[in-house]
Amino acid sequence: MNEKGIPEEELFAELGFFSDADTNFKKVFSSMCTIPHPVAVAAQQKFVLSNIGDPGLFRGTCEMETEVIRMTASILNHPNPKSAFGHMTSGGTESNIEAVLHMKNRFSDSNSGSDFNLNSNLNSNLNSDFNSDSNMNSVSNSRLNLIVPKTAHFSFEKIANLLGIELKKADIDSYFRVIPESVESLIDENTIGLIGIAGSTEFGECDPIEKLSEIAIKHELPLHVDAAFGGFVYPFLDSDSVLDSVSGSVSDFDSDFNSVSDSEIKFAFNLPGVTSVSVDPHKMGLSVIPSGILIFKNESVLGSSLDKIKVKTPYLTSKYQSTLTGTRPGSSVAATYAVMKHLGVEGYRENVSYCMDLVNHFEKELNRIGLTPCISPRINIVTVSVCSANSTGSNSNETAQTANHEKTEKIRAQLLEKYGWNVSATKTIPALRFVLMPHITKEDISNMISDLEKLLNA
Ligand code: PLP
Repeated sequence: MNEKGIPEEELFAELGFFSDADTNFKKVFSSMCTIPHPVAVAAQQKFVLSNIGDPGLFRGTCEMETEVIRMTASILNHPNPKSAFGHMTSGGTESNIEAVLHMKNRFSDSNSGSDFNLNSNLNSNLNSDFNSDSNMNSVSNSRLNLIVPKTAHFSFEKIANLLGIELKKADIDSYFRVIPESVESLIDENTIGLIGIAGSTEFGECDPIEKLSEIAIKHELPLHVDAAFGGFVYPFLDSDSVLDSVSGSVSDFDSDFNSVSDSEIKFAFNLPGVTSVSVDPHKMGLSVIPSGILIFKNESVLGSSLDKIKVKTPYLTSKYQSTLTGTRPGSSVAATYAVMKHLGVEGYRENVSYCMDLVNHFEKELNRIGLTPCISPRINIVTVSVCSANSTGSNSNETAQTANHEKTEKIRAQLLEKYGWNVSATKTIPALRFVLMPHITKEDISNMISDLEKLLNA
């Protein structure tokens, strides 16, 4: 670091240089984030000082956080949004970590009756000897496990590593949705919970959460729904375009998000087996980064798990803290509150409708160059194979699959290098993946598809 600070003018010239080196969102088809709504940015700036990790100092922001949780619970068809229990996080990863940590704590409580807490979890991980943890009386010979769909976000790999649990990956069907029978077949006496996805990272698909809810109830397991992306999409889709596993959309709650809709969204709290849901305002919620939300059906579903992660906070204005992180940005709470209040249900419907219109345009443009999506897109994520049809199916052998992944990767890299388009590729099948976020226009799509056509014909 320099001994002497640099003048503001020089500093901002330097910042301009760094900012120019960042990617212009116009050419980004790979991100699940987008340009935040202006009211979110203004609110973020107004609350830049606020830290909800110290709630006594920031009572106003804490009130807004409570309201954000209540509004989100309402979107998720909670029968009584005021009884929902949750808080804002930095995003889907943190929300998922915390949801699974509670599953693990609850499991250890009900199975060992011992004083198993986060510290002992971490110690056992550090020793790489989780199995021999003497606290785990009844499950001492095998690792605890979590059942996730094969399409689960990579945050679950981090979680497994962090919490020393095994991930059991359930099979998916030809629409890349988890197969409930496969989930049920993986349950054993060491299973701590189930994960379902509403808006999978690669395909945007929604798992049959209603079936998972039944399985969760039957086996008395918690069910966490990862709706990090889909939470601000599925509830706002036109009922015509909603897939069969999601049988309705938010329709009639008032503009303050006060009351629950009569119609049903079959992926959230109107299913009795769903214990928690994660939703990210910094994705389709149009808020600022970092903004995540973790909501439990109510505080009591956590049992004594909450006490296990509660720590005394002697030098803060509150007595205890039970969130994973300490200092938390009140500016993200304010931004999320602002955009949710400002847009209301109507605004979010318009946002989703805009994106679904992009999907229609995208499909037409694809057809123009002789391509079709791998599966009919349910939401604003489209996957496209750029390999010959008979070599991409699940029956093709491993060598062919590897070759197809390589070809896809090559086209992906060329789209970026030659034309500046940021596109991603899926790992489940060899395909290009396009996330049609609100910052994209039909013109962008037409231009990008024309460039793709040039590459494919070269
Ligand atoms: N869950 C899903 C389904 C996601 O798509 C993502 C990110 O893309 C996450 C979780 C992780 O979210 P974050 O990157 O905000 O931590």
